[in-house]
Amino acid sequence: MSKTVGAVLTTRVVAGFIEDHKLQGELKEFPENIDDTNGLIEVPAESLCDMICDAIAGLVPKGATIDAAGVALPGYVHQGVMLDAPNLPQLKGAQVCSSIDAGLKRRGVDVKMAVFNDADTVAAGIAATRGQMDRQVRVWTIGNGIGFGRYPWTEGPWEGGHTVVTLDPKETFCVCGGRGHLEGIMGHRAMRLRFLDMEPDEVFAAAKKGDRRCAEFVELWHRALAAATASMIHLEGAGRFYYTGRDIQRLELPRLKQYLWETIKMSPLQNYTVEVLPEDPSLAVIGAGVAALVESKC
Ligand SMILES: [Zn+2]
Repeated sequence: MSKTVGAVLTTRVVAGFIEDHKLQGELKEFPENIDDTNGLIEVPAESLCDMICDAIAGLVPKGATIDAAGVALPGYVHQGVMLDAPNLPQLKGAQVCSSIDAGLKRRGVDVKMAVFNDADTVAAGIAATRGQMDRQVRVWTIGNGIGFGRYPWTEGPWEGGHTVVTLDPKETFCVCGGRGHLEGIMGHRAMRLRFLDMEPDEVFAAAKKGDRRCAEFVELWHRALAAATASMIHLEGAGRFYYTGRDIQRLELPRLKQYLWETIKMSPLQNYTVEVLPEDPSLAVIGAGVAALVESKC
């Protein structure tokens, strides 16, 4: 019976204790009283690592040992180092795995540990909770940024959120600075930059009421996601795709299917499935714990 702790860094740290792919007890949030969506953007990298260590150490049952601890981070993580993190820039270049490992040892927790891209842990969490550990799972996470995750973990940046989906030179809203990126259209932050006078939820509501500018944007939003998914299918083949995340309620699945059908015409590639999963923070937590059992990337 495996015992792990998973911790996810988003706008706060969310962590949980996992036994055999199942969350035991409640998810814990750190720090406890944060409601600002940019809550951690000013917190230095070292303090972020300390917060993660406190979260993990606090979840190891008294007198017990765990088999592994996994940490999910928003950005491009390679061999334990955060190579880039557009949404938490203070983490760029940080040796996250070794500093969390050292912090855990200082707290008396000596355990196999690994760090992952957060979308990859969502994919691992989906695979673990649906009995699909023997299959390929790909997932798009829709929130402040746009994440692309896959299970099993595969070497490479897999920065799917920065897939180029338009050649329009005016598309400059991606947080990374690149033109024409998926996240520059779909990301919450990017939408706030595009519609300076409206919040993203108001844009989607106005589109439903027939506002032309908003309706055109909502079409672009769906077409961009279909384009990025189609690119993944053309490169890696058809298969199973999931869509989830904090802002998943904005996605209209029939529309996505329609645009996918328009872009994928080679019959061997048409055998794909798409499914929406309601936002569930426990997926990434479970995925981080489970993936840490198999991968050790410090
Ligand atoms: Zn980008």
